Amino acid sequence: MSAPPFISHVPYEAHHPHVLAVYCSDGRFTDAVEDLARHLGHDRIDTLTLPGGPGLLNRWSADYLESDMVTRAAHFLIRGHHISEVLLLAHAGCGYYQARHGSLGPDFVAEQQLTDLRTAASELRKAFPTITVHLYFVRPHGTAIHFEPIPEV
Ligand SMILES: [Zn+2]
Repeated sequence: MSAPPFISHVPYEAHHPHVLAVYCSDGRFTDAVEDLARHLGHDRIDTLTLPGGPGLLNRWSADYLESDMVTRAAHFLIRGHHISEVLLLAHAGCGYYQARHGSLGPDFVAEQQLTDLRTAASELRKAFPTITVHLYFVRPHGTAIHFEPIPEV
């Protein structure tokens, strides 16, 4: 006889959230991103998490195949789940950026992250002109996690 299932205290809701958050897999920020979403009025979110997060949506700076796959996944969710709002989040100390651009120094990395956020937003809006996109740079300050809104231009 197998063990009984674990039953979550979180209730199932059949309708899809209409917000998609694209962010890094880095688990140091997962709960805080959901906290931000609640602050913005969204109890639940669709998520697309991969190392580097929205950096993967910039096909000019990311690996082409990775970027293509992540872009398709984002489009699938936005179209299929009727997403109307997207949160794009980059974070300080990101291992993906460190591995990819770290040798070019922290200033270059920070600039690249902002470029990727803006490029990702602009690409999504080209494909889905009616969606709202919010950009954030996420930065720990001691034990606090700050979400700095990033203007698109
Ligand atoms: Zn990261």
